[in-house]
Amino acid sequence: MTGAWPHGSVLASAPAATRMIILVCNDDGIRSEGIRALAESVESLGDVYVVAPDREQSAVSHSLTLHRPLRVEEIAPRQFAVDGTPTDCVNLAVSGILPMRPGLVLSGINKGANLGDDITYSGTVSAAMEGTLLGIPSVALSLVARDAFDFSAAASFAARLAAQVIAHPFPADTLLNVNVPGIARERMRGYRITRQGKRRYGEALVEKTDPRGKKYYWIGGDELDFIDEPGTDFAAVQDGAISITPIHLDLTHYPSFEALGRLALEWP
Ligand code: MN
Repeated sequence: MTGAWPHGSVLASAPAATRMIILVCNDDGIRSEGIRALAESVESLGDVYVVAPDREQSAVSHSLTLHRPLRVEEIAPRQFAVDGTPTDCVNLAVSGILPMRPGLVLSGINKGANLGDDITYSGTVSAAMEGTLLGIPSVALSLVARDAFDFSAAASFAARLAAQVIAHPFPADTLLNVNVPGIARERMRGYRITRQGKRRYGEALVEKTDPRGKKYYWIGGDELDFIDEPGTDFAAVQDGAISITPIHLDLTHYPSFEALGRLALEWP
């Protein structure tokens, strides 16, 4: 892979005594065990700042708060709780809270998978997306589990990967979406570089009636039901391997240019 992160120069020109700042964010809220495990795991790699939502913000996607003020509370040294979305947190951190531009953004470790098409809803991935948009190498990390969340293996993998990302830049406009299977470290079958899989959407909607006789709906179905294709993020975690998917923020589908070039619209 070629291409360098555009802000390497900021770090290169920093005084020798200044360590790189690592910004840690999530969408499960600053009190989640996943963000603690992640922040602790990278302490030796830089000055770790946690800037995260003050409550759970899962599935808020890449939303930015524009119509009300945002409040920031420093709940401990270098730990800031924000009453906003993951995207707000990364934005505020980089443009105001941090004393210096971070060299790395880590988001997670999320309680639950962020695989396939589901990443478009993900607050975890969106925080990394925001970091990428700001030109900072960014990684989203998720633990593929439903109830028993042991973040230790995922956190130590995160630290190893973070060290690699700092040492070997990967292309701009790209983030890494990492999903760690929720199994014991000894049982894991390495890691794989994967592509985004496809979810099988089923009967995810639950219709019920409220005590006043009115219907309401519950969007549920977070069952992991994916189309089983080799090489995908889903296949990797299914096989007990950690999945690393490079996600490119340019959503243009280049092969469509040819088909769309045949359009014969009369305009104006
Ligand atoms: Mn979450």
